[in-house]
Amino acid sequence: MNKWLTDVGGPGFAHTYRIEEDLYRGRSPFQEIRVIANRDFGRMLVLDEAVQTTERDEFIYHEMLAHVPLLAHAAPRRVLIIGGGDGGLLEEALKHPLEAAVMVEIDRDVIEVTRRFLPQIPGGAFEDARTRLHIADGIRYMDETAETFDVILVDSTDPKGPAVGLFAEAFYAAAGRRLTPSGLIAVQSGSPLYQQDLIRMVRAHLGAVFPHVATYMATVPTYPGVLWSFTIGAAGADPRAVSEETVARRTTGFALQYLTPQIHRAAFALPPFIARDLGIAG
Ligand code: SAM
Repeated sequence: MNKWLTDVGGPGFAHTYRIEEDLYRGRSPFQEIRVIANRDFGRMLVLDEAVQTTERDEFIYHEMLAHVPLLAHAAPRRVLIIGGGDGGLLEEALKHPLEAAVMVEIDRDVIEVTRRFLPQIPGGAFEDARTRLHIADGIRYMDETAETFDVILVDSTDPKGPAVGLFAEAFYAAAGRRLTPSGLIAVQSGSPLYQQDLIRMVRAHLGAVFPHVATYMATVPTYPGVLWSFTIGAAGADPRAVSEETVARRTTGFALQYLTPQIHRAAFALPPFIARDLGIAG
């Protein structure tokens, strides 16, 4: 019997994966959580039928959402992660010499299911002495916390359900109040092929709060459309102004599988058709 998982991307297309094994399927108070095994991508974490991360390609998204913003800060010590329940982003962030990494994930079940079926994605990140985990709504946490951070990373699901407010200007303004003077926030901002409206909105909302806004890209094979965008809002220096030498020096010993100094630099170079669709002057 052939069973397939369909992850719908744009209104007219989807990625489809053959299910070799259905390892877990359950419903949390927030979403349906599923783990399947696929021949090409290994074990895959799926929330509400949308692929979140896979054994085969998780490092691309997690390296790019962690290191590009962390390297844009001269000396990040305190990092806040919103969402990111699979722990892959936390693991990458902890490669930097941080004092504290606070993670605020709304759905405890995502963490527990990942730890049970995909333990190599967080590795030892949840046990790291610098990690503090809160099970809470990131929007509420941002409004209520008195803590400050050098870098905030938003590893959210698409803007549906509890994640909608994570893309709002009010959330970025609250984040701005929790950042140290040269701090920055980085968010996953969706597909440049069919979510241009989302990226434009994220850029406008960040631009209302931060003097620097920069969008960069990576190829993530299991996100529909493959090309994926991330956007940084920075209070201090332009996040693009990081030299290849700095990237090389500060990532020594990180054992990265996607990011190199050249890829870091190239990630900010937007092809003209994307820059045009996003209304960014070339
Ligand atoms: N890399 C993924 C992607 O783009 O497909 C996202 C992965 S991560 C598992 C997303 C997490 O954000 C989910 O575990 C979800 O529960 C969490 N999340 C959604 N809304 C949230 C909120 N308001 N506060 C905190 N976490 C939230």
